[in-house]
Amino acid sequence: MDNSIASLKAREIIDSRGNPTIEVEAKLKSGLIGVASVPSGASTGIFEAVELRDGGKRFLGKGVLNAIKNITEVIQPKIVGLEASQQRQIDEILIKLDGTENKSKLGGNAILGVSIACAKAAAIDRKQQLYEYINHDACLLPIPFFNIVNGGKHAGNQIDFQEFMIAPTGATNFREALRIGVEVYQILKMQLQKKYGKNAINVGDEGGFAPPMKTTEEVIDSIIEAIKEAGYDETVKIALDVASSTFYKDEFYTIAGKKYSTPELIDVYKELIKKYPIISIEDPIFEEDYEGFVEITKALPIQILGDDIFVTNSQRLRKGIEMGAANALLWKVNQIGTLTEAIDAANMAKNHNYRVMASHRSGDTEDSWVSDLSVAIECGQIKSGAPARGERTAKYNQLLRIEERLGNKAKFPKNIF
Ligand code: PEP
Ligand code: MG
Repeated sequence: MDNSIASLKAREIIDSRGNPTIEVEAKLKSGLIGVASVPSGASTGIFEAVELRDGGKRFLGKGVLNAIKNITEVIQPKIVGLEASQQRQIDEILIKLDGTENKSKLGGNAILGVSIACAKAAAIDRKQQLYEYINHDACLLPIPFFNIVNGGKHAGNQIDFQEFMIAPTGATNFREALRIGVEVYQILKMQLQKKYGKNAINVGDEGGFAPPMKTTEEVIDSIIEAIKEAGYDETVKIALDVASSTFYKDEFYTIAGKKYSTPELIDVYKELIKKYPIISIEDPIFEEDYEGFVEITKALPIQILGDDIFVTNSQRLRKGIEMGAANALLWKVNQIGTLTEAIDAANMAKNHNYRVMASHRSGDTEDSWVSDLSVAIECGQIKSGAPARGERTAKYNQLLRIEERLGNKAKFPKNIF
């Protein structure tokens, strides 16, 4: 079999928010094809790889035809003939061809689609699953963090924090964790409807409910009630993605109409973790404030995840590690744009005792490569929204398949929280 790349094909498809995105087919000389599609964020960090969008009237400016043209006209000629398994070499060519710091010339979306499609084609050529191809010894499934109440930029309600997640940390395997997540989600749905009426069970971008609540406490109290009714007080913990850059301005954070300085905000978090079983807070401080991250990491004895601050970028992460900003990396491959750079960032985090959580994007597709990658990098944590909506369940269902395939080799994180 010849695993060298014969051609690249790209098409405009639609993501879960109804916006265009890219799907790439990397075809090998053998005729085998790897297909990958590209997700898209809403609360994007300002340091992320840039998505190339066409502008103009078509798709309200969000078309990706120029990015597709870059794939077929600029990238394809340089990639054809290379072995699909030479991931680092392919990714280095992509980075060089683009030549910018933030992949704004060819588009982070164009580059990522090619990078992942090549990996998938190489895996198919070896008759392996993507996770096995990347890490032959991988056997650790991730704890799923289900985002069951949506706020911030992901919902049309007035909740300031973006994500309220439940994590079945006491489950014994992934299948059980998924069942527990589903049971709490369904009970929360019934409770919300009973208490607030039908409007409260409308869902946000990631499939979590978007009830007409205003305060953080009101949301967490309702989640705790659902966990209790489901009988999982000991098994299920809570995690937040505050996405604080979205309500930060001129040195203050505005929550439920009230302004907080950084020290005051840290006190808010201290009170929350005293009151509730919160094990992880993502982006508690806005994306440019490394010092604020250092303060909060010292102040709170829990996982502090850096998303917008690190943007899966080794350089930004290195600075965080040197300063002691956060103690975990949120891992989004499209933030940096190539598989190689993302894996390097995950390895850097792990080598410095930072934990890693793999993540989907709020605008996502039916593709589930992030599930395979979460197993391949052995990070032990993933967030992919609620256990509902096809683009979210695609990720969780793929993890069920991987666990089943691993059989008694499969492991699930124990006592890490
Ligand atoms: C996040 O902020 O962690 C997230 C998944 O949302 P988005 O994709 O909108 O950045
Ligand atoms: Mg985030």
